[in-house]
Order: sequence, then C-alpha cells, then structure tokens
Amino acid sequence: MSTFKLPSRLVLEPAPGRTTNERFSCTDDRLPDSACRILDPDSGRIHGFAVVDNTRRGPGLGGIRLARDLTLGEVKRLARVMTLKNSGANLPYGGGKSGLIADPSFLDQNPELKSDLISMLAEAMFELASYVPAPDMGTDERDLQIIHEVYSRRGAGSQGFRGATGRPAEDGGIPIDGWGLTAHGLLAALETLEKIDDRFKIKNSRVVVQGYGNVGSFTAIKLQQAGALIVGASDIHAGLWNPQGLNVDELNRVRHSPQGLQNYTGEIQKKFTGKNLDWLMEAPCEFLVPAARPDSITSRNADRIQCKVILQGANTPSNKMTEYYLNNRRGILSLNDFIVNVGGVIGCAVEMKMASDPEYRDKVRKTGTRTYLEDLIYSTVSRNVEEIFRRLKDSPEDTLFREQALGLAEERLDSKQKESWL
Ligand code: NAD
Repeated sequence: MSTFKLPSRLVLEPAPGRTTNERFSCTDDRLPDSACRILDPDSGRIHGFAVVDNTRRGPGLGGIRLARDLTLGEVKRLARVMTLKNSGANLPYGGGKSGLIADPSFLDQNPELKSDLISMLAEAMFELASYVPAPDMGTDERDLQIIHEVYSRRGAGSQGFRGATGRPAEDGGIPIDGWGLTAHGLLAALETLEKIDDRFKIKNSRVVVQGYGNVGSFTAIKLQQAGALIVGASDIHAGLWNPQGLNVDELNRVRHSPQGLQNYTGEIQKKFTGKNLDWLMEAPCEFLVPAARPDSITSRNADRIQCKVILQGANTPSNKMTEYYLNNRRGILSLNDFIVNVGGVIGCAVEMKMASDPEYRDKVRKTGTRTYLEDLIYSTVSRNVEEIFRRLKDSPEDTLFREQALGLAEERLDSKQKESWL
C-alpha cells in the first residue's frame, strides 16, 4: 500500500548550500546556478527538487523524474549531465533537472492524482524562469502537456523560451519515446565505434539491456535489426537471460503489463528477481546497456561485469573511478551518457525551436520531422564519438573516453562562439 498523500500545494525554496560533509569535496568545483527544494508550505514536507546547473548556453533544459528514493544529490548530478549533454551536442541550452519523491507505478494507476500533482509542480516550477522541463523516468508527454498548459495560462508564451517540451504530437510535440530517438543515438554510437575499431562488431554480438523501458526496448529493437542477439533484459520486476537470445517481440508485448517482464513467456535459462535483479548485468555479452537508474555499475560489481563495451543509455549509470578500473584493468570501454544518449534532448530542442521559429519548422517538415531528427541525432553522436577517439589517439594510454568527452563538452560550454547544430 502506498502512503502517498497529495500536498495542498507546492512551492520552491532554495536548498541549503554546501554542508560540512561536502566542504572538502574535490570531485567537482562547479556549483549549480540554483538548487531548490519543492515543498508543501502547509505541512513543510519536502516533495522533490529542482536544479538549474548552468545557463551559459541557454536556459537549463532537462527532464522531470519521479522516484520513491529521489535525492537532491541525484538531481544535481543529473542536471550537470544535462549541461554536458547540451553543450556536447551544440544545443542552445544549459542543464537542468527536477523530480518528485513519488512512486511512479502508483501514480500511473491513479491518473487523476498524478495530474493534480503535476499541475501543482508546474505552478511551483513556473517561478524557476531559467528551467525548461522535459520528460524523464516516471513522466511522459501528457505530464509535459499539463505543465505547458499551466505555463501558458500564466503567460509563458510572451516570455520567449518559456514552455515545456516533450509534449504529445497532436499538441505540436515530438514523440521522443514513440520514435525511439534516444535509442537511435545509441545505435549511432555503436555503428561509429564499429567503423573506428574493428574489434567491435554488432552483427552476431550479444547484448544485455538493464531497464527495459523506453530507451532499453528501442535499443534492443534497433540492435536486433542490426544483427545482434538480445541475451538479457530486465525491468524493475525481473531480469531474464537466455544465451540463445530472448524474443524481443514478446518482451515488447509484456513490458507495459503489470509485473512487466515477469509475464514473459518465452524460453529463458535464468531469471533474477528482488535483491538479485542486478546479477543480470554480470552475464557474458559484448554490449551492456544500462538503461535504468544511476549507479548500476560501481565498485560493487565492476569486478564481475563481463562485456566489452558499456553503452550508457541511462544517465550517470557509472562514475569516473569505476570507468578507470574497467578501462585500465579489465579492458572494458564505457561510452558516456552525455555523448551517446542525447537523442531525447535533441528531440526536445528541435520541438522548442519548431514552436518558436516558423522558418525552421517549415524546413524540418519539408525533410519529414522524423527523418530530420534521426539524421541530426545520428550525425551529432557519430561526429562526437569520432572526435573523442581522435583525441584519445593523441592522449596518454590510460586516458578515458569520459575524460576526452568532458574536455569536448566543456570547451563548447566555455567557448565564446556558441555554435548550434540545430
Ligand atoms: P522508463 O521509465 O521508460 O524505463 C526505465 C526502465 O527501468 C523500466 O522498465 C523500469 O522497470 C526499469 N528499472 C528501474 N529500476 C530498475 C532496476 N533496478 N533494475 C532493472 N530495471 C529497472 O525510462 P526511460 O525513459 O527508458 O529512461 C531510462 C534511463 O535512460 C534513465 O536513466 C533516463 O534518465 C535515461 N534517458 C532517457 C532518455 C529518453 O529519451 N527517455 C534520454 C536520455 C536518457
């Protein structure tokens, strides 16, 4: 039974600054532009967080996450990743992220409650003028449409960029998840890698997908179409493994059902549930695709992961230290989130530009919106992956993909000329 109680209303309040615990933190010196708590002013209860990390390239664009155990730390990390994604992809946006501490499955089963909660969130977030909300885990295009309507009622249209993105196609949005845009970028990353280094081949490779949701399922479909075998897949309910290959059609059939992949009827050799769910990630494969929550690959399991490449569909599934160990002790390459999973945010940026620039809208529609987007995502990811490998060639042997990727994104963040690839 969920103990969720709808707040009477929601407001933003600045989150406390660095605490004593963080005072000597040396992992990152850039502080976010603003970090807020989202709370019910009547009860004082904290319901979530909103962070604008950086606005040097433009307003902070990033998704709204619903998770039972969401923390300010998670939202801050994700907002930083959005800054790097948007600058890496040369988009005219900075980084932001927000979220509510709530059980997404419970809210999906109670749509009226969810809609009231999202409206309250929109009222609160309207005050954060430098943040552009988009969908993330637990929210979808309908939620963004609710936010867009609240913003419009409050006069956002007259304030330049203000609005919400990732809205339904019938309301002028782009179906980011329906078109599998993020997965398209992940495919581009692997196809580019294949061209650069002939040790990596998609055809006949084995793939494990952790988090068979919007990103995970489309990645499985696209990689299967490119000749790979999907040998492992998991959602919050179950992890399935069959070295002969899982039936992707059947995975897609059950993924939206209550209990999700638990309902899979195809052949399997192993099933992991409960506290053993993450064991699936240790299955032998060439390509491991984390596509769920942060920190699924850490020192906890870095010794036992058995893939050649980690393709980061999820945001922050790993960290620099773990990647250093994986790369330099285990020969496992990590292709980082802020370079490879940018398909969704590119879709959001195109949607925003189409809404405000009729000439651009005509240009996109002339090409066909989906074709335009897939081409843009593919070329952005492959250009960046190629450039990072070019830089890696000239760097010391133990340099990580992450380090060169960070250099590239930060150069674009700091550069005076803000090039745009839209
Ligand atoms: P989603 O909610 O559609 O899917 C997430 C899936 O992960 C669900 O199937 C859920 O059951 C599963 N899951 C949750 N916890 C798990 C666990 N511990 N083990 C295994 N499975 C688990 O979300 P999504 O939109 O596919 O996003 C997934 C990840 O990709 C997130 O990190 C998100 O930030 C990132 N991402 C998404 C997009 C996008 O376009 N949707 C773009 C960039 C990055």
